[in-house]
Amino acid sequence: MSKFWSSFVHDLVPYVPGEQPNIANLVKLNTNENPYGPSPKALAAMQAELNDSLRLYPDPNSDVLKQAIAEYYGVDKASVFVGNGSDEVLAHVFHGLLRHEKPILFPDITYSFYPVYCGLYGVSFRQLPLTESFEIDLAQYPADNGGIIFPNPNAPTGVALGLAAIEALLARNTESVVVVDEAYVDFGAETAVGLVAKYPNLLVTQTLSKSRSLAGLRVGLAIGQPALIEALERIKNSFNSYPLGRMAIVGAAAAFADRDYFEATCRAVVESREALVAELDALGIEVLPSAANFVFATLPGHDAGWLAQQLRERGIIVRHFRLPRIDQFLRITIGAPEQNLALVKALQEILQ
Ligand SMILES: *Cc1c(COP(=O)(O)O)cnc(C)c1O
Repeated sequence: MSKFWSSFVHDLVPYVPGEQPNIANLVKLNTNENPYGPSPKALAAMQAELNDSLRLYPDPNSDVLKQAIAEYYGVDKASVFVGNGSDEVLAHVFHGLLRHEKPILFPDITYSFYPVYCGLYGVSFRQLPLTESFEIDLAQYPADNGGIIFPNPNAPTGVALGLAAIEALLARNTESVVVVDEAYVDFGAETAVGLVAKYPNLLVTQTLSKSRSLAGLRVGLAIGQPALIEALERIKNSFNSYPLGRMAIVGAAAAFADRDYFEATCRAVVESREALVAELDALGIEVLPSAANFVFATLPGHDAGWLAQQLRERGIIVRHFRLPRIDQFLRITIGAPEQNLALVKALQEILQ
């Protein structure tokens, strides 16, 4: 705290990201990074861009990347927005599309950045409880709202909603924006991008951090009808004209173009997830049905905080949230096969 702070800064409650410790040989299963590297074509595109052109500003509109995303999804370029990570895209969404008189709605257990953005932009909100089985029940969401946002699959549960439930919400909730945060969609859920043409109030956000293994590059996107995208562009052009550097634009575009690598690595993560779920089950660890690159796991009769500490002592870090309803769960990222094996071995040892 300092006397130089504005009262606004004084009252902010910032987001706390998962730790990025600098320890050798750590089995790092705490921030949902992809165990496989980025597409070799993305790396090559970035290497080719590493030249004298860096003295020049990048394309403020990231057209090459928007075009690659538009081609991948079969939408118009005017329906695509890109930003410096989907966290930045979401910030502009809260500021530009969710900041109204009425409170916005999101689940009680969800991505913890949402309440942080509400604090930053002065957006009031109401949280609706997940069901007993940790599912989002969109039928509970009242019509009178300033907007609705939820991840699909949800974080940190990994539980996915079907498109029919999302479309039923869109059919009745026509007066406010519905944001589907698809950070993990490529690991087993169905994207809502195909509904964008039909619903002018639908915005889908995605990131290249998880399924395209580019968390270090910081690229996220939104897809919606051009009127929604224009709101985001107005905010972006009032905030930072060049959110994506030259490396990010060409690397992300090449990652979208390389479908084969993307599909093969997503499949490998999903196969590892199914194998890990079976191993955890054999140890008596219960896992919510996951459509993401992580599992949300609980071990009846053992404290989750204790278990996380035991794993940490064996060089394995997972995420534990000390929050109501989920303080007995651990969120475990799907790692490479040898990391998953190390996790299972450590758990066997701890539970012996
Ligand atoms: C990881 C994550 C994001 C943010 O991703 P970045 O593009 O890395 O900023 C957004 N939403 C959810 C639910 C996430 O888990």
